[in-house]
Amino acid sequence: MIDEILAYNRAFVTNKGYKPYTTSKYPDRKLAIVTCMDTRLIELLPAALGIKNGDAKIIKNAGGVIVHPFGSAVRSLLIAIYELNVEEIMIIGHTDCGVGSIDIEAMLKKMEKRGISETVIRELGSVTYTHLTLPTSDLV
Ligand SMILES: [Zn+2]
Repeated sequence: MIDEILAYNRAFVTNKGYKPYTTSKYPDRKLAIVTCMDTRLIELLPAALGIKNGDAKIIKNAGGVIVHPFGSAVRSLLIAIYELNVEEIMIIGHTDCGVGSIDIEAMLKKMEKRGISETVIRELGSVTYTHLTLPTSDLV
């Protein structure tokens, strides 16, 4: 699959397919959006909001959540605000988000079966459980 994508990309670059998408690093609408990584949102979200390439910084993760005050989502938002002129932030969830039905224990067991070390799983588990038990006041 990745080989196919890389071949497509080589042709895309050769044909200068990126030209219609050229814009600056500064979001034209001074907007940042935090949302879910769900594949159903790749084209749907911008279409539903009427935004186009260059309009907004879109920060995606599983569930579209901000759980850690110094995590990558907050770091991205800080850069967006202080370095890229973002003035407004939208947090957008969606219907039927898979994160809501994830069984963390089952996922950690799958990782164990694939050979991930117990130490790593324990550390991930504690982070995951911390995330799940954070009081609302700790959420950004
Ligand atoms: Zn989702």
